[in-house]
Amino acid sequence: MRAVDIIEKKRDGASLTKEEIDFFVKGFTNGDIADYQAAAWAMAVLFQGMDARETADLTLAMAHSGDMIDLSDVVKVAVDKHSTGGVGDKTSLVVEPVVAACGVPVGKMSGRGLSFTGGTLDKMESIPGYTVGLTIEQFKAQLRSIGLVLAGQTGDLAPADGKLYALRDVTGTVPSIPLIASSIMSKKLAGGAQAIVLDVKVGNGAFMADVEHARELAQRMVDIGEHAGRRVIALLSDMNQPLGRAVGNAIEVVEAIDTLQGQGPVDFKDHCTEVAGYLLMLAGQVEDAGAGRAMAESALADGKAFEKFRQLVEAQGGDVSVVDDPSKLPQAPVAASVKAPQAGYLAALHAREIGLTVMQLGGGRERKGDPIDHAVGVRLHHRVGDRVAAGEPLYTIYAQDDAQRATAEVSLLEATEFSQTAVEPLPLFYGAVGAG
Ligand code: URA
Repeated sequence: MRAVDIIEKKRDGASLTKEEIDFFVKGFTNGDIADYQAAAWAMAVLFQGMDARETADLTLAMAHSGDMIDLSDVVKVAVDKHSTGGVGDKTSLVVEPVVAACGVPVGKMSGRGLSFTGGTLDKMESIPGYTVGLTIEQFKAQLRSIGLVLAGQTGDLAPADGKLYALRDVTGTVPSIPLIASSIMSKKLAGGAQAIVLDVKVGNGAFMADVEHARELAQRMVDIGEHAGRRVIALLSDMNQPLGRAVGNAIEVVEAIDTLQGQGPVDFKDHCTEVAGYLLMLAGQVEDAGAGRAMAESALADGKAFEKFRQLVEAQGGDVSVVDDPSKLPQAPVAASVKAPQAGYLAALHAREIGLTVMQLGGGRERKGDPIDHAVGVRLHHRVGDRVAAGEPLYTIYAQDDAQRATAEVSLLEATEFSQTAVEPLPLFYGAVGAG
């Protein structure tokens, strides 16, 4: 078999066999197939697509390119939740403790933020001492002892995807449904998840800008999961405006802690209990997602979810006094509000631009490995659809100095659109795919 023949076959629109896909993935991972050939192949896939069988074969080939973690000696059902990435998305910080508090152990391997999207690990590292690097033995021991882990990737999971994603990032080949679906699902399968809730973001702050494409991506991932014998449900959720009110690292941790104590924004809490409800259903803890939602609500109301979060922070070496008093989290020296330049209804609070503003403040990274500033961020005071008066605060900027603040103010005002006629609030969800 030759790589060039496989590239040409895909370029000309034919389906690749399992053997061809395995050959290509193996060759690329071990260096026999050069980056320029893999880039050409990825571009051919982007234009020609892949059918469901090819996508499943690609996913399995990438999943098996490294360690396959087995958690069956630790938990009855290994559950996982994965977001396709967004702005202000601190859902894992709330959902995982809620689900664990409801009696379903959750061991989650999370990622870091890149470009305008945030990452769970960066947020958790705002808590002094919190360690995300666990060995697989430590991961399993903590899952056994407290039923909750929020760590970075342990082991060498799907190295083929790591290599291919880095190449896609610099060759304009990220936005391909089969490539995104196989990239995400290869890591989920290698991580040992048996029941997975996917939070597929839709909107200008997400990979998928419209519901139609998001549904197609969701269906593809659900199909891959079924093919591999896993239970998968994908929720389509809005990412036209940031999730919740806080965008940044430490301020998102504060919002998550507030929510765990029953005081966070209602729409963010509703988002979390919906995701948790589906996870509890897939884990077999409840009959349906509605019952799961109710169970999640009570874990928030009776303080059990908050207590789980405390246990998590303590187990991973974090300073628990920060959880009890979040004002001890890193705080930026400048906190200034941005006022509405005019009266009207808020027609858009563009998530991508707001995420980029936080990145430029230092809260995110442009390139993998860049350091980040946990203290900076942006707080939103309104949602799309709200009516505001001229001069009313729209945002609070947390910055290191006034020059940063001034630049951020300009970008935030560019991210904000007004209407003189009433605007409908945005929905939280656009539906679900997969029956589990
Ligand atoms: N997230 C991933 O892990 N892979 C993609 O291709 C896109 C988003």
